[in-house]
Amino acid sequence: MSGRVYLVGAGPGDPGLLTARALELIAQADTILYDRLIPLQALEGARADAELLFVGKEGGGESDRSRETRAFGAGRFGDASGASVSLIGPRFDQQEQIEALLIERARGDRTVVRLKGGDPFVFGRGGEEALALRAASIPFEIVPGVTAGVAAPAYAGIPVTHRGLSTAVALVTGHTRGDGPDPDDGETDLDWPALAAFPGTLVFYMGVRQLPHIAASLIDAGRAPSEPAAVVERGTLPEQRAVTGTLATIAERAQAAGVRPPSITVVGPVAELAEQLAWQPPRPLSGRTIAVTRARAQASSLARQLRDLGATVVQAPVIRIQPLDGPPLDPSPYDLICLVSPNAVACLFERLASGGRDARALAGARVAAIGPGTTHALADYGIAADIVPERFVAESLVDALAELPIQRALVARAREARDVLPDALRARGADVDVLALYETIAEPLSERAMAAARAADYITFTSSSTVRFFLQAAGGSAGLSPATRIVSIGPVTSAILREHGLAPHVEAQSHDVEGVVQALLADAASHAD
Ligand code: SAH
Repeated sequence: MSGRVYLVGAGPGDPGLLTARALELIAQADTILYDRLIPLQALEGARADAELLFVGKEGGGESDRSRETRAFGAGRFGDASGASVSLIGPRFDQQEQIEALLIERARGDRTVVRLKGGDPFVFGRGGEEALALRAASIPFEIVPGVTAGVAAPAYAGIPVTHRGLSTAVALVTGHTRGDGPDPDDGETDLDWPALAAFPGTLVFYMGVRQLPHIAASLIDAGRAPSEPAAVVERGTLPEQRAVTGTLATIAERAQAAGVRPPSITVVGPVAELAEQLAWQPPRPLSGRTIAVTRARAQASSLARQLRDLGATVVQAPVIRIQPLDGPPLDPSPYDLICLVSPNAVACLFERLASGGRDARALAGARVAAIGPGTTHALADYGIAADIVPERFVAESLVDALAELPIQRALVARAREARDVLPDALRARGADVDVLALYETIAEPLSERAMAAARAADYITFTSSSTVRFFLQAAGGSAGLSPATRIVSIGPVTSAILREHGLAPHVEAQSHDVEGVVQALLADAASHAD
């Protein structure tokens, strides 16, 4: 038997804090079982044929369970995507199931990576998994990771030890009764007098919901109410926030700031050093909440850029792209092929592939792309667009094509789209076929996502259909808070917004994702919180 299990720490969230060994093993693994709190990017280095199993716990004592979304994004790998997810029934012991899965895969001669947030042996149940593997005689290795209790404070400018201030650190769980039926029981099994008397820094994991109880218990047991304390939320991630105070004030401050899991709480004089040592430059969108309404599959690049700039992103996808069935495509009669969205590119290549063709079938035609997103999508298939207009709207593409002799053109697009381009080409005497490759349909939105989008500082609309389907999901009236600023990708989307009485506050000058980001940055700079 050559199967082996690697219990690997993935660090606290910043992908730069994955160890070299972790990256190496991820790249080799046949199977990766991963938790909720791992950096999404960690899986990008996995083999294309690797089996990726999300085994994150919804409940269970080790995680703060109130989060509705994955801490580190969703997408190809997440539970939200539905891909490669092993369904673990709530009534079974999830930990046992994970252990059984590790053993089963290793017995099938697979190289298994069990990827855990932070360090596998620090509140990660890595020890339990190692014991189960040993009992089953499965060879294993442990790959330590950067633990959140040290890294999150460090990213907030808090050294957990400091000469003259703290000579010891205790890593403490703030949640030991979480396996019970009521996650809010507010009880822990901790020895408060011993912790209060501990001569050094206390670092609490999993304690943000228990913070009032933790602070009060430490004070009751004799720790000074004036002792400095800090809470670091989503440490090492772009959205990191830190709240500082004292044992007497920290719970209230954290609550007022809306701090949520995953968070680390630090108690001790070192917490005060954050004031002097905070080293992360302030980010231009930090503190802003931005709702993204475009289709989930497309939202990731916008969402990632906004998060990197410090924004909190609310994913509220109101549309979904549905490819339309159709016969295989033979592009040979066309001397011009116009692609008006990245989706059209993906669908076009599917239609080519269904007839056994590939990019070479486009060799005889000029290829026009409406903007940079479409150009990138084409480049992914090895095609360099011949024509890209100055402004990324159909009218501008018509201008860009003015000098080109055109006999027969294909316009590949969505079912619902404006006829500006085909009409203009026909007016010039060209023979034009319009090929509807996909349609945009409504994506049901949870009430919670709708409420979060309506309360955001900004809501972004990146196409006419996002506007229409948002209003449809909202039941007619947009119901946006008056404080929510409406961002439009360009004049076509703005016109639809105005039609519905939603004058955009911000319109992108360049009608693409980059343009939306630039417009948000400019607006945020001129509108302080
Ligand atoms: N094995 C992990 C800890 C798992 S317990 C480690 O070594 O870091 C999960 C808890 O870790 C969370 O409830 C939270 O308290 C803490 N945590 C994990 N990632 C965090 C992060 N990026 N920022 C702050 N706390 C984090």
